[in-house]
Amino acid sequence: MRATILLKNCSWVITMNPREPIIKGASIYVEDGIPSVVKDRVEADIVINGKGKAVLPGLINAHTHAPMSLFRGLAEDLPLERWLREKIWPLEAKLKPRDCYVGARLSILEMLKTGTVGFVDMYWFSREILKAATEAGIRALITYGMLDLGDAERRERSLKDAKEFIEYGRKLGEERVGVGLGPHAPYTCSREMLEAVRDLADKEKVPIHIHVAETRHEQAEFEKKYGMREVEYLAKIGFLGEDVSIAHGVWLTRREIRELAEYDVKVVHCPISNLKVAVGGIAPVVEMIKSGVSVALGTDGAASNNSLDMFETMKIAALLQKHHHWNPAILNATTVLSMTIHGGSRILGRDMRIDGEAKCDIVTLDLRRPHMTPVHSGETLINHMVYSSRGSDVREVIIDGQLVVYNGKVLTMVEEEVLKEAQDTAEDIIRR
Ligand SMILES: [Zn+2]
Repeated sequence: MRATILLKNCSWVITMNPREPIIKGASIYVEDGIPSVVKDRVEADIVINGKGKAVLPGLINAHTHAPMSLFRGLAEDLPLERWLREKIWPLEAKLKPRDCYVGARLSILEMLKTGTVGFVDMYWFSREILKAATEAGIRALITYGMLDLGDAERRERSLKDAKEFIEYGRKLGEERVGVGLGPHAPYTCSREMLEAVRDLADKEKVPIHIHVAETRHEQAEFEKKYGMREVEYLAKIGFLGEDVSIAHGVWLTRREIRELAEYDVKVVHCPISNLKVAVGGIAPVVEMIKSGVSVALGTDGAASNNSLDMFETMKIAALLQKHHHWNPAILNATTVLSMTIHGGSRILGRDMRIDGEAKCDIVTLDLRRPHMTPVHSGETLINHMVYSSRGSDVREVIIDGQLVVYNGKVLTMVEEEVLKEAQDTAEDIIRR
C-alpha cells in the first residue's frame, strides 16, 4: 500500500479531462495512483504545498534510446546515414551491458527531473534498461532492438533473444514497465524478420515499435529496392496494426497516412532530431491528425537532440508546423499538450487524465518564475506549458502513486552517483 499524497492549495490544475479541463485553486489527493480534485480538508501521509504551482498529467517521451545519452555531443553535424555509419555504429559496437544500464539511468534522471513520467525505448541490452527503469520508478515500454541486415543467423539470434527478453520482463511482473519488440527499420530488417516479429507480437501479445520514413534518402533508396514506399510495404506484408507505433513518419504520402489511420498505427513525431539530422522535410503532423492518426511526441536519443526535455520538444513541434504551413493557428498549444500526454500514453497502454477514477501520473510546475508570469486564465496557462515552460520548472513528479521527484530532487536515485558513473563510463567507452 502506497502512502497517500495531498498536493495542497495548488494554484492551477490542468486535468486533461474534457469535462473540466482547467481548475483554478484546488487540492489534489492521490491514493493508489489515482489523483482526485478535492475541495474539502483531507488528511494524507505526505502533504506538499501546491501554492504557486500548476499540476498536470506527466509528459510521455514516446521515442528514445535511453543509453545513447552516453554519446551526447559526440556525433554532430552529420546526415543520418553518415551519423549512423561513421559515429554511432562504431561506438555501439564497443558497448557492454553495464554501459546501457548507466546510460539509461542518466536518461531517466534527466527525464524525471523534466517532468517525463513515461518513455518508449528501443535499444540493445534491454534488460539493463528495464532494470534501470524499474529501480527509478518511471513508467516505460522497453522494446527489444533488433536488425538483421539480411543475415539469417543474426535474425534467428535476435528473435531468440527477443523472446527471452519478453519472458524475462513478464516474470519480473512490474506493471509500470512493459516489454515489446523493436525492429530497427524496414531498410535494416529483412521481410522475413519483419514477418517473424509480427508473428511473435501476435503470439506474445506485445507491442511493436519501429523507425519508419525518417529521411528522404532512406525513402528514395527503399523505393528503388522494393518498388514501393515503406508504409505501403509494411501494409502489404501484414505488419501494421493497432499495436504498432512508428517513430518519425516524415516522408509519407496522403495514401500512406490513410493506411496508418486505417490500421490505427500510432506515430511518434520527433521534431528536434528530424531538424538536427536534416531529414529533408517536415513531418505531416497536421495532415495525420486530420486523418485520425494518433500522434505522440518523442525526443529520439540524446545523441541526436541533445536533450530529453519534452517541454522543449513541445515548443519546437508547434513552431515547426506553424512555420511550415505559413499559419500560426494550424497547431495550437492544447493540441500539442494532448499529443504529448494522450498520444504518448496510448502507446504505453494507459490514457492519462485527472478524473478521480483512473490512475494518472502527475507533475507540478513552479509558476513563480519570470518566464511563467503573468497567468491570466486557464488558456494562457496552457500556452505557457508549450511556449514558456522548461523542464527545470518541474518540482514534483508522482508516478503510480509514488512520489518520485520532490522539490526538483529525484528521490529514487542518488543524482551525483548517476552523473559520475555516466561521465566515467562515457570516457571509458571512448578509450576502448
Ligand atoms: Zn530513433
